[in-house]
Amino acid sequence: MTEFELIARYFSRPCLDDAVLLAGGDDCAALRVPPGEVLLVSTDVLVSDRHFPAATAPFDIGYKALAVNLSDLAAMGGKPLGVTLGLALPAIQPEWLHEFARGFYTLAAEHKLCLVGGDTVKSPVLSLSVTVLGSAPPNHMLKRSGAKVGDLIAVTGTVGDAGFGLRAVLSPKTMPAALAQHEIKYLHDRLNRPTPRVAEGQKLAPFAHAALDVSDGLLQDLTHILTASGVGADISLNDVPLSPAAQTWIAAEPACALLPWSAGDDYELLFTVKAEDWSRVDFQATVIGRISAEPGLRVRDAHGHIVPMPAQGFDHFAAQVHKR
Ligand SMILES: [Mg+2]
Repeated sequence: MTEFELIARYFSRPCLDDAVLLAGGDDCAALRVPPGEVLLVSTDVLVSDRHFPAATAPFDIGYKALAVNLSDLAAMGGKPLGVTLGLALPAIQPEWLHEFARGFYTLAAEHKLCLVGGDTVKSPVLSLSVTVLGSAPPNHMLKRSGAKVGDLIAVTGTVGDAGFGLRAVLSPKTMPAALAQHEIKYLHDRLNRPTPRVAEGQKLAPFAHAALDVSDGLLQDLTHILTASGVGADISLNDVPLSPAAQTWIAAEPACALLPWSAGDDYELLFTVKAEDWSRVDFQATVIGRISAEPGLRVRDAHGHIVPMPAQGFDHFAAQVHKR
């Protein structure tokens, strides 16, 4: 199969997005940026056995490669315009490509997102590069640097699920017996098919002060906001939002209680808002703390005592599959 045949067979689907003037067939794609808005661009490179276990289902690789990239756009409050895909493949395996494309296009369709370009090459290691293009009004972009003293700190959805999911995949024998089958499936899905919070990001853009997506771990990502904004924070240990599956796991293995603070890969939005604006948040999100003038990050228990956090957080098999 030639490169052209490969693209024609797996990656040529009609594009119904008005933002896309040209996609495929010419030397460049052409996209319309809405008047008065700026172009947002984000690229992720994912390498097999470094960013995902090599045995990951190709559907999930395709889905997640797009999800993590869309999540960066969501974190800026952007609206997707198009996406490009670079694929480096050790071999052309039709079944693998079919499933990969199905995963990629499943999420793309949910966001009415068109694949507007890309490239394929032969390579000894499977790797892929996704670049999402989006737009936002320049005064409604969510940045990391806007957190203000007194802001509430909140996170969408639940955290820790992907970390538990990774452990379930890499070391299934260590899973607590108390986990139900549907909870195990839930954790796998949260690891392999994260939900980019695109709609939530756009809703937050007009009033949130700072935001990013949780890829490295809640505490580490919050530190990025604090550093960029020149502020500190007080966080409540017990307020971290946990799914029923994560709660089951921690109840059975209390030593894992800190994993949700450090595991990452959840792609939830971590954001800060003025307390008066909290009522404008009309989707699932949980307040976990407050921005303070005192530099540094303090995690407190229910009695207000500072809880020492491990410097590197919980090591969730970082040696096998590195954090992004
Ligand atoms: Mg990010």
